[in-house]
Amino acid sequence: MNTLPAADALVRRDLSRLWHPCTQMHDHQTVPMVPIARGEGAWLVGTDGRRYLDGISSWWTNLFGHANPRIAAALAEQARTLEHVIFAGFTHEPAVALAEELVRVTPPGLERVFYADNGSAAIEVALKMSFHYWLNQGHGEKTRFIALTGSYHGETLGALSVSDVALYRKTYAPLLLTPILAPSPDAYEAEPGESAAAVAQRRLGQLRVLLERHAHEVCAVIVEPLVQCAGGMRMYHPDYLAGLRALCDEFAVHFIADEIAVGFGRTGTLFACEQAGVSPDFMCLSKGLTGGFLPLSAVLTTTQVYDAFYAEYSAGKAFLHSHSYTGNPLACRVALETLAIFRDEPVLERNRELAAHLARRLDALRDHPHVADVRQTGMIAAVELVADKHRRTPFPASDRRGLRVYLHGLTQGALLRPLGDVIYFMPPYVITTQEIDRLVDTAIEGIGRAIAG
Ligand SMILES: *Cc1c(COP(=O)(O)O)cnc(C)c1O
Repeated sequence: MNTLPAADALVRRDLSRLWHPCTQMHDHQTVPMVPIARGEGAWLVGTDGRRYLDGISSWWTNLFGHANPRIAAALAEQARTLEHVIFAGFTHEPAVALAEELVRVTPPGLERVFYADNGSAAIEVALKMSFHYWLNQGHGEKTRFIALTGSYHGETLGALSVSDVALYRKTYAPLLLTPILAPSPDAYEAEPGESAAAVAQRRLGQLRVLLERHAHEVCAVIVEPLVQCAGGMRMYHPDYLAGLRALCDEFAVHFIADEIAVGFGRTGTLFACEQAGVSPDFMCLSKGLTGGFLPLSAVLTTTQVYDAFYAEYSAGKAFLHSHSYTGNPLACRVALETLAIFRDEPVLERNRELAAHLARRLDALRDHPHVADVRQTGMIAAVELVADKHRRTPFPASDRRGLRVYLHGLTQGALLRPLGDVIYFMPPYVITTQEIDRLVDTAIEGIGRAIAG
């Protein structure tokens, strides 16, 4: 199986009508479009019967396998009972039970749940809620946000505004709010001999300076706890989150934790914030929330925030953000089943073993002449491919070496989808150690091909 999948009728129909996300459609003159018929466990099965091991959990959403029978059964039952109902003035068991469960499992102090239907929408909600909280408190002068360099919070205009990945932001910059960028605590940027914890302290010092200057006009600091995923799986020390919590309290600004990618066990704990022992003022959840089945997101916040909106109608303090599918019963039911799996099975313990196995297998790459860094946080691991290991000079982006790894993966039945030249592993939790071996072997071969010539 050393060829790429051939275009079939489905692909021809697709390419004549569809426009895909995150894609220069012209690439499909040479890059195959992969038609998938079904999924099972960690595998995707093509219409031609080819199988692909899903090393990236289908854009970081899947936790317990494709077409997971337990989640599928819950979904089918809910579909026969109540598919949807307006969520203003009406409520239903799955939405209430999910809110109760989310409050129970997230860090203490997060006691109110607001639903939206995708990650970017959750970010919009958190940004608006934070701004509106300060407005309701008589601080309408707070209109800005602090974000980290290299951050990614989604691609709707508000979420993109607080993102700093040029690929997504640059073109649309004229349409966006201007955030205040604080330098990321990314440990890859350490000075020679500097520990990750020391980078975190240095970056907290720089954040303090920004807050001293800008806190009066700032609503919130928004971060991706522990791993900046779309920005290249850049990882940082939990001390940064503890320091951030203290600074936000000291300067009266909110702390928004975007756990859309890192929540639900990805980093080794159920939520990444747990590793610093902190509770944010807002926590945004999506992706793994439904085990990868349906779009749903939730913003959790504190009673203090909620109370600032609770007033006579005439006071005009109500929060306004509505989506037609808010609190969709199918999505909520599926999320409840996903959380039930966390309760019923030793997911985090199993993940620790899988993560340790992945770490052992990736160790071999540390001495590779074109690998500048091998890093891992729980069930996220990344390999930084560079032209010059010692200077850490990247390959020219136009080489598209990561794309070669992707294409090699497809010929070998593996879905690896590098972010530029960062080859990463973010598999579903149902992957086996043998399947991890297969992914890593394929990645190593792919890296060999990518750096040749
Ligand atoms: C994916 C992602 C988002 C956006 O979620 P969508 O559902 O794709 O809009 C926001 N923040 C982070 C950290 C993400 O990884």
